[in-house]
Amino acid sequence: MKKLENKVAVVTGGNSGIGLATAKLFAEEGAKVAITGRNKATIDAAVFEIGNAAIGVISDVSDIKNIDKSYLAVKDTFGKIDVLVINAGVFIASPLADFTEEMFDQTSDINFKGVFFSVQKALPYLNDGASIILTASTVAHKGFATLAAYSASKAAVRSLARTLSAELLDRNIRVNVLSPGPIDTPLFARNGASKEEVNGTKNHLASGIPAKRLGTSEEIAAGFLYLASDDSKFMIGGELLLDGGAATL
Ligand code: NAD
Repeated sequence: MKKLENKVAVVTGGNSGIGLATAKLFAEEGAKVAITGRNKATIDAAVFEIGNAAIGVISDVSDIKNIDKSYLAVKDTFGKIDVLVINAGVFIASPLADFTEEMFDQTSDINFKGVFFSVQKALPYLNDGASIILTASTVAHKGFATLAAYSASKAAVRSLARTLSAELLDRNIRVNVLSPGPIDTPLFARNGASKEEVNGTKNHLASGIPAKRLGTSEEIAAGFLYLASDDSKFMIGGELLLDGGAATL
C-alpha cells in the first residue's frame, strides 16, 4: 500500500528544489499533487515530469487576495485537500547595516505573511483530518550572521505550527513544521550571486555542520512524506529537524 493513496496534496513552491522533490515523492506514493508557484515554465516542466498525477497552478503566496483561487483550482480538479505543504520561501542574506526595507518586506511577505494566509485561505478546501506542514529552518534555532530577517521569519513559522494546531484540533487537522539545515537547492543562487559566491556559501555551510555536507532535496522530501502520512499521526504542533546536526551539535 502506498503511503498517500487517494490523497490530494498541494505543495507551494513545488516547481524547484525541496518542493519539487516532495511533489515527485508524493506522486510516487499515490497522491494527486498540485504544484503552485510563480514561474509558469518551471511549473509546466515539473508537471510534465510527474505526469497525470500532477497539475500546476500559478500563484504568488504574497498576493493574499488571490491565494484562494489556487485552492479552488485544486478542488475543481482533484477535490478537497488532504496534505498542504507550505514550502515557498525566499532567502535574502545581507549584513544588518545594508538590509533594506524592501528586503525585509519581501522576506516577511513571503516567508511569514504568505505562510499564515496560505493556511487561512486553505481552510474551506481542507478535509477534516488533513496534515499541514510548514517549512521553517535550522536558523530558527541557531544564530547565523546576515540572516536576521530570514531567521525571524522562520522562527515565526515554528510558532505558527503550534498555535494553528491548537486552533484546528476540532477538525483533527494537524500542523507540524519541518526545519531543514543547509540543503543543496537553487535557493542560494536566487539573489544574483555569482557561481563562485554560491559555491563559497555552500562550502562554508557544509564545513560548519557535523554532517560535513549539504543535505539533498530528496532527504527533506522523505521528511515531508513522514509528516504527510498516517505514520506521523501522533505528531501535532511538532517539529522535525533534518539538519545534519547543524542546530544541536
Ligand atoms: P528553491 O529556491 O529551490 O525553492 C523555493 C520555491 O519557493 C521556488 O519554487 C520559488 O519559486 C518559490 N517561491 C518563492 N517566492 C514565492 C512566492 N511569492 N510565491 C510562490 N512561490 C514562491 O529553494 P528551496 O531550498 O527548495 O526552498 C524551499 C523552502 O525550504 C523555503 O521555504 C526555504 O526557506 C526552506 N529552507 C531551505 C533551506 C536550504 O538550505 N535550501 C534550508 C532551510 C529551509
